[in-house]
Amino acid sequence: KVRVRFAPSPTGGLHLGGVRTVLFNYLFARHHGGEFVLRIEDTDQTRYVAGAEEYIIECLRWCGLEADEGPHKGGPFAPYRQSERKALYRQYAEQLVHSGHAYYAFDTPEELEAMREVEKARGNHSPQYNHVIRQHMRNSLVLDAEEVKALLDKGAPHVIRIRMPENEELHFTDMIRGTVSFQTNTVDDKVLLKADGMPTYHLAVVVDDYLMKISHAFRGEEWLPSAPVHILLWKYLGWEAHMPQWAHLPLILKPDGNGKLSKRDGDRLGFPVYAMNWTDPNTNELTKGFRENGFLPEAFVNMLAVLGWNDGSEQEIFSMEELIEKFSIERVHKGGAKFDYDKAKWFNHQYILKTDNARLAELLQPVLQEKGVAPEPAYVATVAGLVKERCHFVNEIWDHGFFFFIRPDKYDLDAVKPKWNTDKQAFFEEWTGVLNGLEDFTFAPIEESFKQLATAKGIKPGELQLPFRIMLCGGKFGPPVFTIAETIGKDETVERMKLALA
Ligand code: GLU
Repeated sequence: KVRVRFAPSPTGGLHLGGVRTVLFNYLFARHHGGEFVLRIEDTDQTRYVAGAEEYIIECLRWCGLEADEGPHKGGPFAPYRQSERKALYRQYAEQLVHSGHAYYAFDTPEELEAMREVEKARGNHSPQYNHVIRQHMRNSLVLDAEEVKALLDKGAPHVIRIRMPENEELHFTDMIRGTVSFQTNTVDDKVLLKADGMPTYHLAVVVDDYLMKISHAFRGEEWLPSAPVHILLWKYLGWEAHMPQWAHLPLILKPDGNGKLSKRDGDRLGFPVYAMNWTDPNTNELTKGFRENGFLPEAFVNMLAVLGWNDGSEQEIFSMEELIEKFSIERVHKGGAKFDYDKAKWFNHQYILKTDNARLAELLQPVLQEKGVAPEPAYVATVAGLVKERCHFVNEIWDHGFFFFIRPDKYDLDAVKPKWNTDKQAFFEEWTGVLNGLEDFTFAPIEESFKQLATAKGIKPGELQLPFRIMLCGGKFGPPVFTIAETIGKDETVERMKLALA
């Protein structure tokens, strides 16, 4: 049975890379009729950010990538928060000590620091606690058994470390990269259980993937260097036959192809999914996210799906159903995917065109509220339909159509003044009266009355359209001007003309 998990640490908002990991998990699970688990890896309490778990759950909901099991909805393998599973991990760490694959280390922070200083003085700038160094430290591989027992009995602070073998080659098959090999000497004796009794990520991820019967694990490429530790733990705990198949997802890169994408980039490449209600520790600012910037979840998800994956054709727009049907891990690219904000905007535009006007109207509500207007939803939907072709974002419906909701507060006089004359003034004064008497205030009759009067006055209609537009909108923009008049209605049109002519 296919069971996958998204296992974030609640240390902040979710960014593009994280959501893409969610998405690939989700698509893989749905494609295979499997289950998708959300597990919160909160064992590092120094990095814990209050509210981050709720944030993650809300992101999944907004993206439409709901998990089947998780801390927010329970499930057969609860609890799904590692801090609540704390009691469970020690036995496995101890089992590893008994089988000789792990050991107790009693070194104090001062002793570790002193070791680092000594190593640095020797020219070893990133000293690792490995088979060489461990010989000189205070741990159960060095101390005699009685001493160890005495220390444990009196409750001396200690951690449990994995004993990395010397000079071994390890291999595993990654679903994206194929065979990956490691030299064990390049990895240090990672801590498995901390002094406070909490497991580290390395122990917890293996124990929980085993206990939660995870069959496939997708995670960011940044975890590849930890894979040898995990492979050994699966083996040493006697669970090798149950080890999930791994896929390390390539990074999302800036368009120039350099550098990892992180919130530190301080620009839109590093947007979180939606604004975090905590300030970004790097910039000390409240960061806006894709949601506030007007992305539709469907567009956001589609854009992410094709960031490093395709179905082998040129197709770029996929519905969720198509993605589920077509997704395959073999088609995920090995190289980093380049994130291009303009392309992301293009996706959003495509989805704005596809989105029902009533829904666009709903999404525009916060903007309308902020602007202090409260038009009828049906009216907002009509406006959305008229301007959406020009919009990359929902918020731009306001930018391209504000004059449907409020009167212009200034006029682009430069555009009309040079050619303005008393004949034109007279035309508009008379036409205002004609419009006022118009029974059927729709495009065709408005246009008809306009042309008739212009002809009668001997003025080219083309010369009058622009001033009319400026009376209604304030500037040289917007959909066809008779459409604007029809939409805002007779009273408003006449009123705006009077105000402009006064
Ligand atoms: N807790 C890890 C993280 O925050 C999860 C890595 C994994 O999926 O194994 O990225």
